[in-house]
Amino acid sequence: MDNSILNKIFDEIDVAKKILIVSHVNPDGDTLGTMCALKLFLKQKADILIQTDAKIGIPDTYKFLPAINEAKNLDNIEDIYDLIIAVDVASIDRIVRKARIIFDNAKMTINIDHHKTNNGYAKLNWVVGDASSAGEVLFNIFKEKNIQITKDMADCLYVSILTDTGCFRYENTKSETLEIAAQLIKLGVNNSDIAKKCYNNKTKNLVLFQSSVISKTEFLFNNKVAVVLINESDLNKFDATNEYTEGIAETLRTIKTVEISAVLKESNNQTTKVSLRSDNVDVCEVVKRFNGGGHIHAAGCTIKKPLKIAKELLVCEIERCLNL
Ligand code: 5GP
Ligand code: MN
Repeated sequence: MDNSILNKIFDEIDVAKKILIVSHVNPDGDTLGTMCALKLFLKQKADILIQTDAKIGIPDTYKFLPAINEAKNLDNIEDIYDLIIAVDVASIDRIVRKARIIFDNAKMTINIDHHKTNNGYAKLNWVVGDASSAGEVLFNIFKEKNIQITKDMADCLYVSILTDTGCFRYENTKSETLEIAAQLIKLGVNNSDIAKKCYNNKTKNLVLFQSSVISKTEFLFNNKVAVVLINESDLNKFDATNEYTEGIAETLRTIKTVEISAVLKESNNQTTKVSLRSDNVDVCEVVKRFNGGGHIHAAGCTIKKPLKIAKELLVCEIERCLNL
C-alpha cells in the first residue's frame, strides 16, 4: 500500500489534541484487541469507545485486556474529539448512535481495517484486505513506524489475531500471520493462557442457552443449510447478553453436511441480526442483498424485518447463492 497514506495518518495523530478510538458494534476480540493496543501506544491522548450501552458494558471474555477498563460506552461519550480512528469497522453503519454523530462531526477520521468489503468511509483509510485481522494490520503499522511493542500491546494484538483466525485455523492464517504470532510470543505473550482466557471462560448459563437454541436448529436443503432462530423470549429466559450468541454459527458449521449456517437474532420485534458461516461458499454474496458485509466464510447483516420474515428472505437468498 501507499506509504504516503500511513505518513499522513501519523501526521494527523501528531497534530490531534484528543483522539477517540472506536470499535464496531457487537465488539469481538479483534476490534477490542486492536483498540486496546492502539490506546496503549497513544496513552492519555486517546480514549477508547466500545459501542455498547453501559448496561451491556465490556464483554466478560475480554475484560482481561490491558486498558479495556478505561473504555467509554455509548452512554458516557462526549463530542470532544478532533480525530476518530475506527478499528476493524467494516462499514460506516457499524458505527451507531452518538458515536456516528461524533464520527460525522470530527475534523479528521481514520479507518484501520482488514475487511475486503470496506469501502473506505473515512478521510484516511488503511485497509489491508488480505490481513488476518485488524490486529495484524496494526502490528505491521507499528513495525513500519518502528514503534516499540510492549508486552501489554503484544497481548492485545495476539488476542486480535487468535480470535479472528479461529485459533489459526481459518484460511486467513498465512505464514506471515504465524510469524507475527511468533514475534508476539517472543515479546512475552503467554499463548496458552490467552487461549484459555478467550475460549475456556464461558458461564454455565451461556452453554445451557446455546444448547437450548441449537436443539431447535432447522436443517434445510438436505442438511446443507442450518438455521437457528433466536427470539426475545429465548434471550430473556437466560438473561442472555450479546456474547451468548457468539460461536453458535461456528458450532453448526462443524456438521459435515452443512455448507452454510445461519443464526438469526430478533431485537425489538422489528429487526433481525444475521450471522452466517460457511466452509466453502462465499457468504458475502448472501448478505450483499441486505447491505451486509464481512469475509468470505463469515459475514453478517441486519434485516429490518421481524424474525420469521427475515428468515424467509434469507433462505431465498441462500438458495439462490447455493444454486439449490
Ligand atoms: P458476526 O457474525 O461475528 O457478527 O460477523 C461476521 C463478520 O460479518 C464480521 O467480519 C463482521 O464485520 C461482518 N458483519 C456482521 N454483521 C454485519 C452487518 O450488519 N453489516 C456489515 N457490513 N457487516 C457485518
Ligand atoms: Mn476483524
